[in-house]
Amino acid sequence: MNTFIYSNDNKRYHTFNYASRKRYNTKVFKVGLNAGFTCPNRDGKCGYGGCTFCNDIGSGDFQGNTTLNLMDQFNKGVKIQQQKWPDAKAIAYFQAFTNTYAPVEELKQLYDPFIHHPDVIALSIATRVDCLDDSIIDYLDSLTKIKDVYLELGLQTIHDETAKHMNRGYDYALFKDVFKKLKNTNLMIIVHVMNGYPTETVEQMIETVKEVGQLRPYGIKIHMLNVLKNSNLGLQYYKKPFKLLSLEEYIDCVITQLRYIPQEVSILRLTGDYSHEDLIEPQWIKNKIMVLNGIDKKMAELNITQGDLCE
Ligand code: SF4
Repeated sequence: MNTFIYSNDNKRYHTFNYASRKRYNTKVFKVGLNAGFTCPNRDGKCGYGGCTFCNDIGSGDFQGNTTLNLMDQFNKGVKIQQQKWPDAKAIAYFQAFTNTYAPVEELKQLYDPFIHHPDVIALSIATRVDCLDDSIIDYLDSLTKIKDVYLELGLQTIHDETAKHMNRGYDYALFKDVFKKLKNTNLMIIVHVMNGYPTETVEQMIETVKEVGQLRPYGIKIHMLNVLKNSNLGLQYYKKPFKLLSLEEYIDCVITQLRYIPQEVSILRLTGDYSHEDLIEPQWIKNKIMVLNGIDKKMAELNITQGDLCE
C-alpha cells in the first residue's frame, strides 16, 4: 500500500509523472524548444546581463537544437523520445529565455500552430511575470479551451534582496499581483524556485517554498543552483569561490520544503537539468538518481510526506 495518496510508486511527494498519467492516461514527455526570445533583464528593458546564474542558453538547461526551425525542433524531439516510449504524448515546451516577451499578435503566430498540432497534448511556456500583460494572459487562457497550457514562472525566491543580487529585474509584489490574475484563468501555473543561492540562508529558501505552496500553484519546480560557465555567477565563482550547499544539506532543505507544500500541488522537479560542459559546481548534481534516491530514503526514514506540516 502507498503511504502517500498522490503516489502509486511509493514516493512521498506528488510527482508530475503521477499527475500527468492520471490526467492523460499515458506517459508524457517534454520537447524543449527555443523560439529565439531574449529577456527584459538582458536587452536593457529592465537590465543587462540576465539573471546572474543564467548562461547564454537561457534558463541553464535548454538542450534543444537551435539551428532548426521550431517545428523541426519539435518533430526531431518527438522522434527521439518516441523511440523510448512509442505511445507517449508530447508537451511542446517553450523553454529557452522568456517566451511571452513579444506583442500578442506575434505570440499567436508562434503558439497557434502548436496548440492545433495533433502530436501535441499540451503546451508548456516558460516566462516571467513582468512579461504577462492582460492581453497576453487573455490569449493564453483562450488556448486552454483547446488543450492544457502550463505556464512556468521563474521566481527563484520571494526575497527581494536576493532578487536584486540575482538581477531578476522585478520584485515579489509584482509576482503576487500577476499570480492573482493568473489564478482566475485555466492556465496551469508552475513556479520555479532555487536553492543554494550564495547570499541566502537555508531558512530563506524554506520560507520561499512555504509561501509559494500557500499560493497553491498547479506545480512547483525546485532547483539546486548550478554554477555555470558563461554566467555572471560563474565568473564570480572563478574569482572568489563561495560556499555551495552539500548534497546532504540540499536533501535536508528539500525534504523540509516538501513538508510545507500542500499535497495536491504537483512537484515537477527536485534537481536541475544542466549542460555537462557548462557546469562548474556542484559536482554532486551530476548524479541525479543519487539525489532523488537520497530524498526518498530520508523521507522514508523520518516517516514524513509532502504537506505534512501544512496548516
Ligand atoms: S529570466 Fe530566465 S532565461 Fe532570462 S536571464 Fe533570467 S533565468 Fe535566464
